Amino acid sequence: MSRVMKPWTADELREIANLPTHLVVIIGPDNTFIKTNEITNHILGWEPGEIIGEKVRNFTHPEDWEDTIVTMSGLHLGTKKVVTEFTNRCLRKDGTYRWISWSASINGGCIYALGIDVTEKVQFEHELTIQGLVLESISEGVVICDEEGTIVYTNSAEENLLDYGSDELLGKPIQVINGHDEVKSKEQLRKVFEDIEKEGIWIGEWDNIKKDGTKFTTSCRVTTLMLNEERHLVIVQRDISLRKRRQQEKDELQNRFRTFFEQSNLPMEIYDMEGNPIVVNKAWEDLFQTSKDNLKGYNILTDPSTVTTGMLPYLQRAYAGEAVDVPAFYIDPVTMVGRPGRGRWLEAWFSPVKDENGKVKELAMILKDVTEAKETEAKLKVSQSNFRVVSDRLSMAVKVAQIGIWEWTPGTEKVYWDETLEGIYGYEPGGFSGKLEDYTATIYPDDREGMWKIIAESQASKKPYIVEHRILRPNGEIRWIHCSGTTFYDDNNQPKLMMGTVIDITEKKIAALDQQFLADISETLSQSFNIHENMNEIANLAVKYFCDGCVIDQLKSDGEIERIVVAHGNPEIREKVFKIHEKFPQRYSGEHPLFTALITGKTVMLEDSRPLWPQLAERFGPEYLLEIAHINAKGNIVVRLKGRDNLLGTMTFFTNHGSTHKFDQRSKWLAEEIAYRSSMSLENSLLFLNSQEAIKTRDEFLSIASHELKTPLTSLTLQNQMRRRQLEKGDQSVLEETKYLRMIDADHHQLRRINRLIDDMLDIARIRAERLTMHKEEFEFCTFIEDVIERFTPQMSAVGCDLSISLNTSVILNADRYRIEQVVVNMLTNAMKYGAGKPVRIEVTRTNYKISFLVHDNGPGIDQKDVERIFQRFERAVSGREISGLGLGLYISRQIVEQHDGTLFVTSELGKGSTFVMELPLNA
Ligand code: ADP
Repeated sequence: MSRVMKPWTADELREIANLPTHLVVIIGPDNTFIKTNEITNHILGWEPGEIIGEKVRNFTHPEDWEDTIVTMSGLHLGTKKVVTEFTNRCLRKDGTYRWISWSASINGGCIYALGIDVTEKVQFEHELTIQGLVLESISEGVVICDEEGTIVYTNSAEENLLDYGSDELLGKPIQVINGHDEVKSKEQLRKVFEDIEKEGIWIGEWDNIKKDGTKFTTSCRVTTLMLNEERHLVIVQRDISLRKRRQQEKDELQNRFRTFFEQSNLPMEIYDMEGNPIVVNKAWEDLFQTSKDNLKGYNILTDPSTVTTGMLPYLQRAYAGEAVDVPAFYIDPVTMVGRPGRGRWLEAWFSPVKDENGKVKELAMILKDVTEAKETEAKLKVSQSNFRVVSDRLSMAVKVAQIGIWEWTPGTEKVYWDETLEGIYGYEPGGFSGKLEDYTATIYPDDREGMWKIIAESQASKKPYIVEHRILRPNGEIRWIHCSGTTFYDDNNQPKLMMGTVIDITEKKIAALDQQFLADISETLSQSFNIHENMNEIANLAVKYFCDGCVIDQLKSDGEIERIVVAHGNPEIREKVFKIHEKFPQRYSGEHPLFTALITGKTVMLEDSRPLWPQLAERFGPEYLLEIAHINAKGNIVVRLKGRDNLLGTMTFFTNHGSTHKFDQRSKWLAEEIAYRSSMSLENSLLFLNSQEAIKTRDEFLSIASHELKTPLTSLTLQNQMRRRQLEKGDQSVLEETKYLRMIDADHHQLRRINRLIDDMLDIARIRAERLTMHKEEFEFCTFIEDVIERFTPQMSAVGCDLSISLNTSVILNADRYRIEQVVVNMLTNAMKYGAGKPVRIEVTRTNYKISFLVHDNGPGIDQKDVERIFQRFERAVSGREISGLGLGLYISRQIVEQHDGTLFVTSELGKGSTFVMELPLNA
């Protein structure tokens, strides 16, 4: 290393060249020695003039050459025009080197160098550096000073000890750090040197003073060290105030520990290495309910219960030097200390007590009575396992029962739903946003207000709530839920949390609503026998409940369909549906959902009826299609109305496009239920109407029958009285033969009439009792007819009926001759009665299978609507009493003919006479 100062002046150089105390060399520009002085020759051992002209390099230590030439070149080049200091090793004649510290300057191209031999100093520093490295690493404070007391070295521990900075103390007298005055300090050093000379070492307490003036004492060992051939003192000191404090602390700790040991409520014991107890504390005595005196002779290493409790392996580990936690074990005081008492659960901590060398010397045991905790834990385990079972079951039940769970912190916007609940609301798992507004949106708009009201009431009364309401799924589907909720309150009585459950009760609710609806239907139907009114109401109920429109068509006896009811929310559509039917009257035939349902009895359900349109267009024409398009119908359900024996009609339910109603299996079931109930009611109503009619007819019959009976009886009574009066007057003319015979005939006629009436009534009774028996015999039919006609001819001509007879055949019939005569007589009587004064034609024709007997009159004829009715009991197409008769003849006749497997029918037209035909099978 080189230092730079001002350049020397020429005078100074002259003086320097002759300096007696320093080495002086002058080096030429070619780096050869030009001049050396005496000292130089002396220190380096060269003869005077011996190295003149020699290269500097040859006299410089190779390791130092680089530095040397750099410095010299710097001087030559003028980059170092000042005095430059540097140190290098120069060769002595004996081949050794000396450390020379040079100060050099350039003048006139020559280097003037002034040197001091610093070999000892460099060596000392070197030695000190090596030692310092060792001393630095010592944690104790180290100070080295020379015999005069000048500090030549301090390690960092010493500097720290005294609060001085690095190397700050170097060169300072020792009293700076021992706080003594110079005299006392010198005295102390002298004493120390003396002791060391005797003992080799000085040990004692050393006074110290910190930089800030704080005094303290250290324990100190001092030895000497030869450095640079001078004796130095090496002072190694330890801060014993620290040790004193440590001792104090240790005493306190021990004291504390003793107190802790004695007063702790943790039972503790200490064993020696042989397993004998040394000491136990009070808590230990309490735990085992014994005194330490009773422990004499006890040895934990020979105690067999350490095996049964499982403690032994832990004990062994602890004796081997490891601190161990012993998990809870059970001890029985009887076996442990031979004293009765309650068994206890203990946890233990075994801690080996070691000496300074880490050798185990004792074993401390700290016990902890965990009986309560253990018992509670056991109980808890049971109750936890119960709880787990219960909660497992509960969660399973919740899952199986599809109970959704929700939570909401009132006042916040966050709602929690579990997956089941999301499913109920029609969301994918995790699909619900959890926002309050989204929850509100799920409540069916009509139910929203009620829902929040119930929640508010529940919070006001602090009672849980249960509510059933509708929800809207994201796909627009409406579902019913049963929702229960409870509110939890904070310390200020503010709602803190609300939670509850939700069950989807749609099916149950719909089933209940369906039942209610059907009950309403039944009730409506039972209210009156007014078919029209009932059906109308039912159709309206259906429209309100599950469809948009309802049509009821009644099947008439002639196969006509009569549209009796149309219900729809829109009166225009209602009118339209009626009008379409008027415009395109339908008959019971062909392919139409109406008829398919009617004929097969199978409900026809179309989710969309449009595919049917082309077929309908073909049948009714495009105009029909235009009309029905106005109705805007989408789904259709057609169900049949059927009584016990009769087809009554159909009910058609329909939905409109864009409606909330949609037909599915449930709608179909509802339609069928309505139809079933309506059919029964309809039939009952019809039966009722019929019975009403029948009662009316019977009443009429009774009045006619009494009139019919009374007429001949009156006539007989009058005749009888008249004859008696004549005879009483002496008028014998009544006894005159011809007159008398006529009278007998007239009476006979009246009696026959009475007889016939009574016969008819008896026949009716027989038919009703199914006792109208036939006595069949074989007879020739045409001859038989001729006989009857012959008997009738006088009566026929009496009423002015010309008879034309056509009997061009012959056939043997097996029949009840008397009963068939009754039919023929009835047919002829009617022709005579209703076609009086006009010609009557009688015809008998036959085929291979049957014989037909035909009576054609030219009477008033029979209205088309009455042609079937007149064959029923008491039914007469003529009103009241204009023509006598009970309306029984044709009824009885048909019964007789049908008993012969034949048919009796009429073809007639009003004003054009009637043709009654009896057909009888020939094989009968
Ligand atoms: P009655 O003649 O005693 O009334 P019927 O059973 O014989 O009873 O006939 C029933 C009804 O049928 C009659 O009341 C009448 O209205 C109608 N009728 C029967 N025969 C004829 C006929 N030849 N021409 C017109 N009407 C008839």
